[in-house]
Amino acid sequence: MPDGTPSPSLLRDADALIAAGLIAPDARDAIAAVEARYAVAITPAMRALIDDPAGPVGRQFVPDPAELVTAPHEMADPIGDDALSPVKGIVHRYPDRALLKPLLVCPVYCRFCFRREHVGPDGGLLTEAELAAAYDWIRARPQIREIILTGGDPLMLSPRRLSSIINTLSAIPHLEILRIHSRVPVADPARLTPALAESLATDKAMWLVLHANHASELTPAARAAIRLVQAQAVPVLGQSVLLRGVNDSEAALEALFRAMLAARVKPYYLHQLDPAPGTARFHVPIAEGRRLLAGLRGRVTGLAWPTYVLDIAGGHGKVPLGPDYLEPDGHVRDPWGVRHRLAPNLAPETASV
Ligand SMILES: *Cc1c(COP(=O)(O)O)cnc(C)c1O
Ligand code: SF4
Repeated sequence: MPDGTPSPSLLRDADALIAAGLIAPDARDAIAAVEARYAVAITPAMRALIDDPAGPVGRQFVPDPAELVTAPHEMADPIGDDALSPVKGIVHRYPDRALLKPLLVCPVYCRFCFRREHVGPDGGLLTEAELAAAYDWIRARPQIREIILTGGDPLMLSPRRLSSIINTLSAIPHLEILRIHSRVPVADPARLTPALAESLATDKAMWLVLHANHASELTPAARAAIRLVQAQAVPVLGQSVLLRGVNDSEAALEALFRAMLAARVKPYYLHQLDPAPGTARFHVPIAEGRRLLAGLRGRVTGLAWPTYVLDIAGGHGKVPLGPDYLEPDGHVRDPWGVRHRLAPNLAPETASV
């Protein structure tokens, strides 16, 4: 399949959503207005998981008229990527790593996406010349050890294009780690063919970070797709976004992280929602996120615990949000909330670190 070709039988517009029973016929005009602004796509694999458009999978993908309302704090570029792009396709915020976005096409379009103003089906495939300029930029910077392929979704590339990118990056001596962020294994497992998995082969340390937000996304087909990636000696990590109505309970997070671990996927990050336009209905306050994670501590295997992170608005980087267990007065809380005095040599000097 050529780069970025969507899978057949995608639901991509209001009429298709009505025919599939996911929106009411009288919502047609309102949804058409949303779809004119933000891309819509629901794969057969995700459609099969939606029994209620307002349920945990439906909410992630079925457009809603509320998306046309931008709250005062919401921003087109919530994490400041645009200002950090030295050449087209590259985002550079940290000294040792950079993002490379070879295309802006995704298998599905998540209604809460932080790059929603940029991603879409006609989008953003870097030309050979643009890719060459990005490679030159990387080659000239020996301090960069890791390239994170993101987008869009790099697994929407053809196996040929993806292996050409991976081979070119693999030939850059100072790169140690290649990382791919993708939703394809859950959103469109049929796309993850053996040929696509084989295109990940490299002598560099290749990692894949899978985006999934609800346990039901880890279907047998998704697990088989993940397995193909792992068979290339590629460890798979999980990243999720904390989302109202999707995974905003201890039970939902526990089920999600347990489903990941059962697929040998280590939960890496749980993201606080970035304030992209029209996403307010997904917002969960940080205090609530911290309580949810604290509720899992001590009850579920430590392997299940991701780092809860905030990408600071304006491009200032990601930071962990806790919960934390050290208290400024020289005590530490245990997983059940009981305080214990620390030995004096362990007591924190300030509450700030
Ligand atoms: C999120 C991000 C990374 C990766 O951060 P990690 O904490 O290493 O996962 C790198 N660069 C940019 C610009 C990012 O937004
Ligand atoms: S797959 Fe990722 S980049 Fe694409 S719409 Fe979803 S959150 Fe955004």
